[in-house]
Amino acid sequence: MYYSVVFLGILAIIFCVHHLRDHSHRPVTRPNVVHPKDDQNISYQSSNDQSILVQSSKKIPLSVNYHLTRECNYKCGFCFHTATDSHIEPIENAQKAMSLLKDAGMRKINFAGGEPFLKAKFLGQLAKYCKETLHLESVSIVTNGSKVTDKWLSEYGKYIDIMAVSCDSFDEKTNVKIGRGTGKHLEKFKELAQMCETHNVMFKVNTVVNIYNYEEDMNAAITEINPKRWKCFQVLIVPEENGSDKTLRDARKFQITDEQFKLFCDKHRHHKCFVPEGNDVMASSYLLLDEYLCFLNKGVKEKTKSILEVGVEEALKDVYWDEEGFMERGGVYEWSEPSKSAQHKLDW
Ligand code: SF4
Repeated sequence: MYYSVVFLGILAIIFCVHHLRDHSHRPVTRPNVVHPKDDQNISYQSSNDQSILVQSSKKIPLSVNYHLTRECNYKCGFCFHTATDSHIEPIENAQKAMSLLKDAGMRKINFAGGEPFLKAKFLGQLAKYCKETLHLESVSIVTNGSKVTDKWLSEYGKYIDIMAVSCDSFDEKTNVKIGRGTGKHLEKFKELAQMCETHNVMFKVNTVVNIYNYEEDMNAAITEINPKRWKCFQVLIVPEENGSDKTLRDARKFQITDEQFKLFCDKHRHHKCFVPEGNDVMASSYLLLDEYLCFLNKGVKEKTKSILEVGVEEALKDVYWDEEGFMERGGVYEWSEPSKSAQHKLDW
């Protein structure tokens, strides 16, 4: 009897250890992207034993940038998403659009503008809907930071994984020269970094490298701020948006050569968070949804019909989308704030 009990005890321990180990190594479940019926035209992007499914015959909008408004309170001289009107969709339409995109395979939404915080309530409600109702893996915002408040973060911060804040220089005079605010940008930027930490939102920095800052040494400031990611874009000319004296902004005077961009990158690339993005990668690897819920084709005037009108799949047929560029620039990375996602073991 004694030996039977001991034997059963040992069996139970072996079972439990095995079971626990099985759980700790179990691949984290990912949402369905698309499961094609055959194996043709499929490629996999693999990371940590997980696969991202890409089907070349069908475009799957993994990550979408929704430019919900074109209005902005700043006047950056190189801006290519300048205010042509002040349209914004009713919240119900925007929610419906998010839901359609989710059904089509979207996993990450990024809210941008213009300045999205000029529509703070709309933004908060939509972020909440995307996280709470649609359970999107990642909800992020690109902002100039000037209008973000602690009150807003207290209410909606829990629905935001990443806040990307623009900062082109750690010398305020340069920011002013660029049009990035009127002299208080850095103060607000630093305050926001703190606020994001308090509210458990990943802090990311976006820098546009241009003629006024490409020689700047930002090492000390970046070390101090310690962002999760620091994306540095080479200033981009989009002919019909910011590339002539007929457009609202003329970014040609901000332009730098590839060598000048490289000079900046070489000075800063040792930071773990540093992600450079030259013009070659940037031009067509973002999937952009405009304020009318139409996809934009960068470099071409024409946009698609609204996804509410024709559906996501149909609209995507008219989009030139550089999927390879998206992967190349690390479009899939650790895009969800750990404690807000069951997917926190994914190291993208
Ligand atoms: S903050 Fe952004 S949207 Fe506003 S003007 Fe500058 S680049 Fe354009």
